[in-house]
Amino acid sequence: MQAGIIVDVEATPALRTDEVNSTRTMIERVEQRFNLKPERLIGDMAYGSAPMLGWLVEEKQIAPHIPVWDKTEPDDGTFGRSAFTFDAENNRYICPAGKLLKPAWRSRVKRNPFRYRASQYDCQACPLKPKCCPNMVIRKIDRSPFEPARDVARALAKTEAYRQSRKARKKVEMLFAHLKRILKLDRLRLRGPSGARDECLLAAIAQNLRRMAKRLMFATPEVVPIAA
Ligand code: SF4
Repeated sequence: MQAGIIVDVEATPALRTDEVNSTRTMIERVEQRFNLKPERLIGDMAYGSAPMLGWLVEEKQIAPHIPVWDKTEPDDGTFGRSAFTFDAENNRYICPAGKLLKPAWRSRVKRNPFRYRASQYDCQACPLKPKCCPNMVIRKIDRSPFEPARDVARALAKTEAYRQSRKARKKVEMLFAHLKRILKLDRLRLRGPSGARDECLLAAIAQNLRRMAKRLMFATPEVVPIAA
């Protein structure tokens, strides 16, 4: 990232799913072609979906410096998922009142979330119920099978390395801005997906040549001592 060299290009329609999927394609392709694998992936929340984080952490062992896409925190003042503690050893959640939410069922589809339920006996007598599940008899929590990977991303988000990554991301954004403004890639001239791919590829080559020329120009010449 320091050199600012583009190592792969994948043109996609301007759709979030396609853009995220293209990241997987490029990571795999760069690994196969150049035997290069990033230690971390920096991205915005669009890349923080549970399956994407699961793939990065569990399959590729790449540190996700990405905010987690999380819709489990309600904005009505009731308890979100973060108010509940997961007890991995016993496979259960512990609620703010100290009661247990046990696994209720497991979907046959491996990628579906697991559901945990509190007991009706506990919830109906609980003073925290108006803050927890005011419109339900009991509290339920769905846990994604990729939750361990999401926890890794949440833990990373509190580190200094993550803060540095957020700053480094601005450098990459500068490259995109340059491609659009100076190399005029804000509008494609060639038609169709293959035209878009060729145009993006050529722009990336031009950008790389410019970066390399700059680096060579300012590189300090190596001093080689010669014995007299
Ligand atoms: S309502 Fe139920 S799940 Fe919520 S805090 Fe009370 S006992 Fe726990």
